[in-house]
Amino acid sequence: MPGFESIIDQKRPIRILTTCLRDGNIPHALLFTGISGIGKRTTARLFSKACNCEALSSAVSRKRIDGIPCCRCRSCRKIKSGNHPDIIHIEPSGNIIKIAQIRDLCHTLSMKPYEAETRVVTISEAQNLNLEAGNALLKVLEEPPEHTIIILTALNTANLLPTVVSRCQEIRFGPISRKNLMKLLHDERGTETEVARIIAAMANGSISKAMAMSDDQWINQRNWLIHELETLESRTIRGVMAFAEQLSSNKDKLPDVLEVILIWLRDRWMVRMDPENIINIDRIDGVQSNYGNVPPSSLLSKITAVQRAQMKLQTHTNLRLMLENLMLHLVKT
Ligand SMILES: [Zn+2]
Repeated sequence: MPGFESIIDQKRPIRILTTCLRDGNIPHALLFTGISGIGKRTTARLFSKACNCEALSSAVSRKRIDGIPCCRCRSCRKIKSGNHPDIIHIEPSGNIIKIAQIRDLCHTLSMKPYEAETRVVTISEAQNLNLEAGNALLKVLEEPPEHTIIILTALNTANLLPTVVSRCQEIRFGPISRKNLMKLLHDERGTETEVARIIAAMANGSISKAMAMSDDQWINQRNWLIHELETLESRTIRGVMAFAEQLSSNKDKLPDVLEVILIWLRDRWMVRMDPENIINIDRIDGVQSNYGNVPPSSLLSKITAVQRAQMKLQTHTNLRLMLENLMLHLVKT
């Protein structure tokens, strides 16, 4: 089983972590930040293996330079199967991490580790710690238990208590390159190059998002949506409103829907500026024929309208009204 080299496009975070392992200078609290689906949790798991790998701890220090866990020893196998009593993982219950979860953790941390050289606690999606839970965790960070490392993962530091952030060493994880997303889609899902290119461009650097998009359902939905957009201008106002209503009925899919619309418009911009970089390459005929006469200022205004809708999606907005306004903007010349 692979070690840190299997983590894609995260050279800097891995270098920082392996340096900590090599020097035996591991901070008691780490904070991995970055968008979902880029390897933060996988890295935390590998790091917990490397901290406890029996082969590494008994080997000469030279071997620690790589920090690559053997993945065969008793400790590595237990961590892999999720059965190691000192490798603890906490994630939101529902949408939040509750005070009871942190209280249970505090109780566990008040005792010595069962068997690990270094107990590792990973708290995923720490932006979902509620205030009470965040404050309880702060007490642990202020008086860190011996032989214990706490790793928080979060999208960014904005929704964390500043006092929690200041107690952790932040390590930023970046988005995955389009090239590597395409390779993953090809290698793991057998996705055709043309489709992989479209998905890689729309996944915004997230492996989990790209994988979720690689099923037929997503592609079919995208094909349907683009077809509807291409024929939108020929509809009556009532038809445009009906389309907006149809889209508003599935809130979970709206982030994807708006992203497809944005890229579809972007391609109409690129067809004049940089045709080589058109993303919806399978729809190039539609891109070239439909929008040849749309003034650039109008196209830019439509793109801005979609971006505004994406921001509104984060708030408690009236979705149907928002989509109606957006669709009317899209059919306006
Ligand atoms: Zn091992």
